[in-house]
Amino acid sequence: MTKIFSKILVIGGIHGNEPLGIQLVKLINILKIPNLDAIMGNPFAIDNNIRYVEQDLNRVFNLPEENSLEKNRAIEILNFIEKGDYDLILDFHNTTSSNNNCYFVGKKYDQILLDVSEFLGLNNVIIADYNCVNNYAKRCVSIEISSDSNLNNSAYWLNKILNLLDQETIPEATSINKFKCIQKIRKKEEKLLNFSWNSFTKISDLDKQKLFLNEELDYFSIFINEDAYLPDYYALLIIKMP
Ligand SMILES: [Zn+2]
Repeated sequence: MTKIFSKILVIGGIHGNEPLGIQLVKLINILKIPNLDAIMGNPFAIDNNIRYVEQDLNRVFNLPEENSLEKNRAIEILNFIEKGDYDLILDFHNTTSSNNNCYFVGKKYDQILLDVSEFLGLNNVIIADYNCVNNYAKRCVSIEISSDSNLNNSAYWLNKILNLLDQETIPEATSINKFKCIQKIRKKEEKLLNFSWNSFTKISDLDKQKLFLNEELDYFSIFINEDAYLPDYYALLIIKMP
């Protein structure tokens, strides 16, 4: 029988200081698994255990014109992906924010990418609207895992991916929460808040008033006190999509 995904690519280390994807790429490259390729996102940043060298690689996938180390790397990654003709690309990230496991898609996502999300046990999906890999590489999703989560384990994800490669069909997702990004909240705005926030928890009416947000909408937050946001930002505000 034909499998639903004939060829999968894993990307790790688009941010050089996020170990899960880097460990997973190393594991896959040692094991040499048929129909499963793996590449490092930002080798220069990985070597130095830093998020990026000149620019955040996951913000410069918009057909780079100027030269920077990361813009050139974005072109190389997109060329590699083009040649590989992958059915699915899984790009792995870590966040220092707790209870923040989630799944990112680009604006042109389809139902199968949502089905994969639920199959992988990640029911919170963020539609990314910035110049990240998801919006420029076809069928590419990002998996964001909290550093302190028990899912922060490369062997666990290798098993999940092998399982995915083995499927002839996957069930249609029924319990996905979709969100879109609204704005980052500054550290100085955090001082106004009445309640400290938790990932994927609804913002209180009082906090909505303090931040002059639309009272009609339900806001949630993620990446609370994420290291890459500090010292300027506290969290990312998101809203639920139908
Ligand atoms: Zn990342």
